[in-house]
Amino acid sequence: MRRPLVAGNWKMHGTRQSVEDLLLGLNGQEWPEAVELAVAPPALYLQQCGEALQGSPIRLAAQNCAWQAEPGALTGEVSPSQLRDAGCEFVLVGHSERRTLFGETDAVICRKFAAALACGLRPILCVGETREQMEAGQTADVVGRQLQAVLEVFGVGGLAQGVVAYEPVWAIGTGLTATPEQAQDVHSMIRGRLALLDSDQAGCVQIIYGGSVKADNAVDLFGMPDIDGGLVGGASLNAEEFGAIARAA
Ligand code: 13P
Repeated sequence: MRRPLVAGNWKMHGTRQSVEDLLLGLNGQEWPEAVELAVAPPALYLQQCGEALQGSPIRLAAQNCAWQAEPGALTGEVSPSQLRDAGCEFVLVGHSERRTLFGETDAVICRKFAAALACGLRPILCVGETREQMEAGQTADVVGRQLQAVLEVFGVGGLAQGVVAYEPVWAIGTGLTATPEQAQDVHSMIRGRLALLDSDQAGCVQIIYGGSVKADNAVDLFGMPDIDGGLVGGASLNAEEFGAIARAA
């Protein structure tokens, strides 16, 4: 009933040349039909990716967007409408690097979620706790608060128009992956919270896992009942590995 989604977040990596090489590699992969696929290159390379991926099942995602749907006086920002114009279908909102390094609050992230939806983009709302919060047993509180900010405004139906990505901060880029059981526990907690509000819609929300997903742990992670795919950082920069991860979903 829920289609798996595997999305690659390239973060601030790449040059025109390396992006071209990666796209060639991606176009040489076999993609599973049952899986939704996306890549999120730096905004600068969206156009290049869109052109090279025409005819491919891989959709375009942006890594961030402005909190205002339409163009305006926001130097340095890219509006969701411009991302749509560039061919994007998805946009990440609230990635932990945006939260911690750029001071994005739940309120700002909620505005970005709204702006993305208003333009027909599917926002991928990233949530997750830090290592200290995990060790203090605060995972459910932290993730619950991050979700609540969007749920208050949009409800479960609004959230279901996007995607939730659970990315424990301690697992991002560290090589430390949540065990499949640890990740499943949080995914099931998230779905349980949504089900309290709207049990029908809760079953439809795609909840994907991010944090050191690799070809060799993807099968076990994606085999869990509430893990609907992955948000892949480092491993998505290698076409063969990203292909293998997609085929694991
Ligand atoms: P890594 O897969 O490199 O840990 O990054 C995860 C991530 O932040 C995806 O958004």
